[in-house]
Amino acid sequence: MRQLIAGNWKMHGRLADIPAYAAALRAASAHTDLLICPPFTLIERLAAALAGAGVGVGGQDCHGAAQGAHTGDVAAAMLAEAGASFVILGHSERRHDHGETSATVAGKAQAAIAAGLTPIICVGETEAERDAGEAEHVVRSQLAHSLPAGFAGVIAYEPVWAIGTGRTPTEADVVAMHGAIRAALVEKLGEAGKGLRILYGGSVKPGNAASLLSLPEVGGALVGGASLKAEDLLAIAAAAPRG
Ligand code: PEP
Repeated sequence: MRQLIAGNWKMHGRLADIPAYAAALRAASAHTDLLICPPFTLIERLAAALAGAGVGVGGQDCHGAAQGAHTGDVAAAMLAEAGASFVILGHSERRHDHGETSATVAGKAQAAIAAGLTPIICVGETEAERDAGEAEHVVRSQLAHSLPAGFAGVIAYEPVWAIGTGRTPTEADVVAMHGAIRAALVEKLGEAGKGLRILYGGSVKPGNAASLLSLPEVGGALVGGASLKAEDLLAIAAAAPRG
């Protein structure tokens, strides 16, 4: 399967950035799937700028309800209408800044799937949890409670301490965690769990992408800071093995 290189712009990016960014992606011929998740306000414009280019556009969150009195929130169907085909859910910044629990994330995933979006569910331990030897237990528990029954989507393993810090786990730690995630997916979903992509996220850059993306059970990357420059995102995609 082709790897998926997904960019998470977080709360970065302005309308004026879109033409050059989209032109750079259009000019490239990546051998991976590419996905850009900009802030809500840019989804429609980015999707229009990338129309026909084979690059996906996604949201960074959605609400668990289809509609209602939820000031400031966005429903999955609204993302789809704006041109999104994916949505990132349960990012550690959402879990931390907005108190999202795994149960909240499962509800959002269900809403996303009902709206025809592919959820990317983020899991990952804090540094204190890793130091305490609890990393795998924490990630397994997040998976057990964040994935709705019959989940079909993508998992992103993002150790919280590696996000935006320039630090990455050892290759052995990535291999061990991705193997544990695969085992948990198969336990929960049976045969279907064997085919889901598991992305690695946390300080992926052009310089470390080749080694991280070549590890067993790594099906791509969720890229924050480095996705803000199209050239860097494309360099990461170019470093991925051909699937
Ligand atoms: C992220 O926030 O999803 C992320 C992986 O960020 P960064 O690449 O900047 O560490």
